[in-house]
Amino acid sequence: MNVPFFDYPRLFLDNKSEYMTIIETVLSKGAYILQEELETFEENFAKFMNVPYGYGVSDATSGLHLILMALGIGPGDEVIFPSHTFVATAGAVNAVGAIPVPADIGPDGLVCAQSVEQKISPATRVIMPVHLNGRVCDMDAIVAIANNHDLLIVEDAAQAYGARYKGRYAGSFGVAASFSFYPAKSLGCFGDGGAIVTSDKHLAEKLNCMRDHGRSNGSDVAMWGVNSRLDNLQAAILSYRLNDFDQDIAKRRAIAEKYQKKLRHISNIVLPPAPNSDKVRFDTFQNYEIQSNERDELQKYLRAQNIGALVQWGGKAVHQFTALNFDASLPETEEYFRKCLMLPMNVFLSNEDTDYVCETVKKFYSNA
Ligand SMILES: *Cc1c(COP(=O)(O)O)cnc(C)c1O
Repeated sequence: MNVPFFDYPRLFLDNKSEYMTIIETVLSKGAYILQEELETFEENFAKFMNVPYGYGVSDATSGLHLILMALGIGPGDEVIFPSHTFVATAGAVNAVGAIPVPADIGPDGLVCAQSVEQKISPATRVIMPVHLNGRVCDMDAIVAIANNHDLLIVEDAAQAYGARYKGRYAGSFGVAASFSFYPAKSLGCFGDGGAIVTSDKHLAEKLNCMRDHGRSNGSDVAMWGVNSRLDNLQAAILSYRLNDFDQDIAKRRAIAEKYQKKLRHISNIVLPPAPNSDKVRFDTFQNYEIQSNERDELQKYLRAQNIGALVQWGGKAVHQFTALNFDASLPETEEYFRKCLMLPMNVFLSNEDTDYVCETVKKFYSNA
C-alpha cells in the first residue's frame, strides 16, 4: 500500500480526456485572459455561496492583498490574524505596509475570539479570521467584537469554499473574502488561482478594476491597481470541477466520519470535530488535523509504511518564523504545534486507503 498525502498527477489524470477537451476548446479560440469562461466561472462561484460579487484573481494571497489595498489599509494600521495559518495571511498585510498582529487559537485550531479582543489596539483596523481546514471560525463572536470596536472583517477563506456556519457560507461574513485554487485545495486548478467575493457593490467595482491594473471600461485607468487575473483556461477547468464539488465535499466528510469512527478509541490522539458533531457548522475538511503527544514518532512510523502525513506550514505557526521578527508568545498555538499532524484527506483516497491509514495508526499505538 502507498497513500501519498496528495496525489498530484491524479488531479489531471483521473479526468484527462475531459480536461484535454476543455484545454483544446479554450486555447483554439485564443481565449486566454478575461474571457467568457472566466465570467461564467465567477458567476457560478459566487452564486454557489449566495454572494452577489465574485472575481477571479491570480491566487488567494494576491486576493487578500487587493482587498486590503481597496479598503485603504496601509502604514500604521494593524490587522489581527491567527498565527496558525499560512504565512500568506500575514504576508498580504505586510504587502500593504500594515502590521500583522498574531492572535492565539482555540482547541479546534481556529482563531480564539478572546485572544483577538486582547490584541486590539487603537491602530487596529481589520480582523482577518482564517477558516482553517474547511471549518468556519466562531463568527458570532468575531462579528460581535468587530462591531463593538468598529473594525472590518476580511476573511481568509483559502481553505473553506463551501463551509458553513449557521447556514451562511465561509466568505460571506466579512466585508470581503479570498479563496484559493492551489492544486491541493478542495477546489484546485492546474497551477495558481484564486477568487475574491464581496456583497458591497462599490467595493466590488473597485476590486474588479484593481485586479486589472486599475483599468475600467477597456482602456481608461481609474485608479492604481495590480495584475491579479485568474487565467481564462484555469477558470474553464474550475467550472468543470465545480460540477462535482458537492460530491467531493461529501466524500471528504465521509472520510472524516470513517477516521472518527476508527480512531476515536485511541486515547493518545485528539481528533478534529466530527462532521456531524456540530449543529451550527458544515465543515468541508480541507485537512484532517489530529493532535498527538507522539507526533514526530507517529509521522515517522506512517512514512515508513508509505503514508504521507504532514505538519501544516512545515511545522511552524507564523509568529515562530524568526526571520519575520514577531515578538509574540501564543501558548495555545505553540502547544498545538508540538502535537498537530495532518492525515491524508482528499478525494483520491479509496476505502482501502483510509482503512490502511487507520490500521497503521492503530498499530503504532498498540506497539507503543
Ligand atoms: C493556501 C492558503 C493561502 C494562499 O493561497 P494561494 O492561492 O496559494 O495564494 C492563504 N491562506 C491559507 C489559510 C491557505 O491555506
